[in-house]
Amino acid sequence: MKDEKWIKEQLLDKFLRYVKIDTKSDAHNTSVIPSTICQWDLLNMLKKELEDLGIDKITLNEHGYLIAVLESNLKDGEKAPVIGLMAHVDTSPDMSGTNVKPQIVENYKLNDIVLGNGYTLKTEEYPDLLKHEGDTIITSDGSTLLGADDKAGVAEIMTALTWFKNNHNVAHGEVEIIFTPDEETGKGLDFFNKDWLNSRCCYTIDGSELGSIETECFNASGFEVKFKGRVIHPGSARGKLINAVSMAGTFLNLLPANESPEATDGRYGYYSPMEIEGNLDEAKLGGILRDFDSNELSRRIEALDAYGKAVEAKYPGGIVEVKTRKQYSNMFEYINKDMKVIEILEKAVTEAGVAPSREIIRGGTDGSRLSEMGIPTPNIFTGGHNYHSRFEWASVNTMVKASETIINLIQLWAKEIS
Ligand SMILES: [Zn+2]
Repeated sequence: MKDEKWIKEQLLDKFLRYVKIDTKSDAHNTSVIPSTICQWDLLNMLKKELEDLGIDKITLNEHGYLIAVLESNLKDGEKAPVIGLMAHVDTSPDMSGTNVKPQIVENYKLNDIVLGNGYTLKTEEYPDLLKHEGDTIITSDGSTLLGADDKAGVAEIMTALTWFKNNHNVAHGEVEIIFTPDEETGKGLDFFNKDWLNSRCCYTIDGSELGSIETECFNASGFEVKFKGRVIHPGSARGKLINAVSMAGTFLNLLPANESPEATDGRYGYYSPMEIEGNLDEAKLGGILRDFDSNELSRRIEALDAYGKAVEAKYPGGIVEVKTRKQYSNMFEYINKDMKVIEILEKAVTEAGVAPSREIIRGGTDGSRLSEMGIPTPNIFTGGHNYHSRFEWASVNTMVKASETIINLIQLWAKEIS
């Protein structure tokens, strides 16, 4: 594309500003969306930038959903399908996002990159770097994450929008832009109403490696297990104490080690304990269950109940309560009903000069939930890597290709005039 240099400048300008705004979400604040006040800083900034671009229809509601509409410029009487583009403004609760200091490496030479603060991004540990010789690479300074997840996606969408505003002779249909809070807590769409959108399909810009298109994700459930013991002074505890901490430990031992995230990849699902707290009286264990196959997920839910009963049998008088809650479903179930959504996306990637590859996500996106609501929403690469980590990095060259893909996508859908 002839505008690659312009796109790169736009992306750098936007991305470097967005990552400096702390938007870390809080998985423990379950009462409100957004879960953290700081996310409003970026939402308000984006709202202002959309206004400055001359977008007329913009809404930012009390839950932090920012929706903007690029109105169709097709001739009177022509109507193309409405499509949506979605990215999230929050960053992972698992790593600091305060005072992010992005570092830029121009013309990357396949070397290890010293981040600072005692950390080095090593090609041996992160061999994906070796695919990016000559690229402009952005990292953090090692003290925080970078926030390419998902500010790369936000910047790519904003750049594409700016491109259409600068090229108003290029035909496009109506495009709905959706920026959401709290994707990382899995609660981002809890208050979202799909009736706010007219989109036939939507695309999340929240993936990773150049060319990857994600159409399948896990079926996901969260679990919480409560262990209730009986407390007696340890000095006179013999035969009487029921130790909730020990109960939790026994339960943890029953989770199959070969079905853990650290022992599996590809299509294999898992149990993952994520956090634990408690004392003799009561302990709580939280975690997640994942599988591409919904039957396998159900099997694991049943197994947790069985493990709970096994712990109760070993600690007579102790009580184990297992609760699971559904988080999201494998989006392929919904996407495969409208394969045009993928065909046009693959064409858009190809026209950007990139070979598309369909991947599975060992995770989920807001797109998984939107698909379930009836709007098929696959996920597009952003150029970010090592998400949720101080070793997070992004290739600006890949980000350029992501923006080009979005620009192509909008134009291709505009040709589907009814
Ligand atoms: Zn993300």
